[in-house]
Amino acid sequence: MTDDCIFCKIVAGTIPCRKVYEDDEVLAFHDIHPVAPVHFMIIPKKHLASLAEAGPEDAGLLGRMLLLAPRLAKEQGLPDGFRTVINTGRGGGQEVFHLHVHIIGGAGPRPL
Ligand code: 5GP
Ligand code: ZN
Repeated sequence: MTDDCIFCKIVAGTIPCRKVYEDDEVLAFHDIHPVAPVHFMIIPKKHLASLAEAGPEDAGLLGRMLLLAPRLAKEQGLPDGFRTVINTGRGGGQEVFHLHVHIIGGAGPRPL
């Protein structure tokens, strides 16, 4: 938990979210500014600023987050597929510095 991290506050429950999924290690919730009919994020509960800060000790956690994606996407009404986006660092367009995987779908295929 870092005091100034908005996603740590969502994990702690001090900022509300529209929850999609939760377990001991992972939380998924809808993006507040969706870019498609379905747009949610999968985040680790522990504060990891970005993919660039993840280490070998996070391999299992990262794997579990990715393996959740198709299951949650299907539950959210995306049986035909979805996009996964992980913005990393300022150069990657990251705005919230707590690792998150965007799951986006429902608007048809689109280029990267
Ligand atoms: P990034 O650009 O860092 O990959 O994406 C950050 C995402 O977090 C944005 O899509 C933004 O809409 C979303 N976001 C920012 N603040 C909040 C919030 O307080 N609640 C929720 N649910 N999403 C947020
Ligand atoms: Zn955080």
